[in-house]
Amino acid sequence: MNAEQPTPPAMDPNAPVRVETLPHAGDLRWPMTWYFLTGKLYSLLPWKKTAWTCAGFPIELLLGLDIFPLHPENMATVAAAQKQSRRLIEHAESMGYSRDLCSYCKTNIGAVDTGAPLKHGGIARPDIITCTNTICDTHWKWFQIQAEKLDVPLFVFDCPKIVSGTDDRTIEGYITYMVEQFFDFFDFVKKHTGKKPDIDRMIKAAEQSERLSALWREIYEYRKHVPSPYGMAETSASFFPLVVMPGVRSGIRFFEKILGDIKQRADQGKGTLTGRERYRLMFEGIPFWYRMRFMYDLARYGAVVVYEPYTFSFAPSKPVNLGYMETLRQVARTMMDVPYSYNLEKRIAYFKQAISDYRIDGVILHENLSCRPSSTGMIDLKNALQQECDIPVLIIQCDMNDPRAFSEAQINTRIEGFVELMERRKTHSPSVGLD
Ligand code: SF4
Repeated sequence: MNAEQPTPPAMDPNAPVRVETLPHAGDLRWPMTWYFLTGKLYSLLPWKKTAWTCAGFPIELLLGLDIFPLHPENMATVAAAQKQSRRLIEHAESMGYSRDLCSYCKTNIGAVDTGAPLKHGGIARPDIITCTNTICDTHWKWFQIQAEKLDVPLFVFDCPKIVSGTDDRTIEGYITYMVEQFFDFFDFVKKHTGKKPDIDRMIKAAEQSERLSALWREIYEYRKHVPSPYGMAETSASFFPLVVMPGVRSGIRFFEKILGDIKQRADQGKGTLTGRERYRLMFEGIPFWYRMRFMYDLARYGAVVVYEPYTFSFAPSKPVNLGYMETLRQVARTMMDVPYSYNLEKRIAYFKQAISDYRIDGVILHENLSCRPSSTGMIDLKNALQQECDIPVLIIQCDMNDPRAFSEAQINTRIEGFVELMERRKTHSPSVGLD
C-alpha cells in the first residue's frame, strides 16, 4: 500500500450495520425441518434405509433407490454454527488425527466418537456409506475410516477428472466407466439393503434437481442488479437444499418463494444494503461457518458479496427429459464437471467473466487450511486477476470449520487495507496488490 496517500475506508467500521433480509428467508426452516425429520424417520424404521454421502455425489441415484442421504459434511457445518466444532476437532486430534487434516473430517470423527447429538453436529449410523473422489481424496479415506469404525458397508466411486486437453472421445469413455460403476453400486445396494433402482423415481428426481438448480441460477441472475438484492449473508444458509436435497419438492418451494422476494426487491431498486452498497465482492471458497458474522463485518464498509463460485457450483445445468441410460450418462457427466477440477487457465477465464458480469470491485480468496482442492493455485489466480482485471484481490488464510485459524485482529486489518484499495480504484488512482 502507498503510505503517503492513505485512503480511509469508505464507511465507519464501528457504525451499526443493517443487512436487509428477504421476507421469506425464515422459510428455510421448512425444508430443513423436512430434511432432519425425514432423516430421523428413515433411521428409525427398519424397512427404510439411509446412506452417508459426500459433496459431489449424485443424490438423484440415492433417491431413485429410496435411500435417504445423510451428509457428514453438512452436519460438520451445524457443529461449527453451534460453536461445537473446535471441541470435536480437538477430540479427533487427541485420537491422533493431524492438525493438517480437513476439519470437516475431524469434526465428524469427533462427533461420532463422542456421540454428539444431532443439534451439535452428530449423525445417525447409516445402512451404507458411499462417496466419491469427485472433489477430493479426503472423502475416500475419511469415509473408509468411519465405515470400518461403524462396521457399515462402503462403496467408493472412482471419478476421472476432465482437465484441459481431454478430448470428447476420452470424456465419453470416462462416462461409460462411471455408468458401469453405477450398475455395480446398484448391485451393492441390493445386496446390503434389498433396495432396487426405480427408474421413474430416478428420472423424476433428476428433473426436480434441475428445477432446483435452474431456480438458483435465476437467483444469481438477479444478483447482477445494482444494488444487489441478495448477498452471501443469506446465500450461505439458503443454498442448503442444493447440497443435501436436490430432487425434493420442499427445497423447490423455498427457492420459488425467495426468488419472488428477490424479483420484487430488484423491481423496486432495493438491495441488501440499499443506499449503502459501495463495493461489490466475489468470495471464493467455503465460508467460515463458525463466524458468519464476517459478512456483516464487510457490510459495515458498504461491501456486499454478490457472487460466490462455491454456492454457484452446486447448481450446474442438467439436461432433462432423457431416457434411463441417458439420464445415467448425464449424471456421470455432471459429476465430472466441477469447478474445483478446472485447470488454472479455465479458472481464470471463469473468474474474469463473473467479475465482468457482476460488476465486481474486489475479490476475496479464502485459502482454506483444511481444503487443498479449493485452495490450490490461489496465488496464481490472484496475480492473474490483479493484472488482467486491475482489481484488488485479497487472500485470507483461514479454515471453514476450525475457529482456531480465525485471527480476528489480523483479518480486520487486512480487510481495512483491501477496502482502501477498492476505494482508491473507484477514485481512479492506480491500484496496488495486497501480499
Ligand atoms: S478437503 Fe475440502 S473438499 Fe474435501 S472434504 Fe474437506 S473441505 Fe470438503
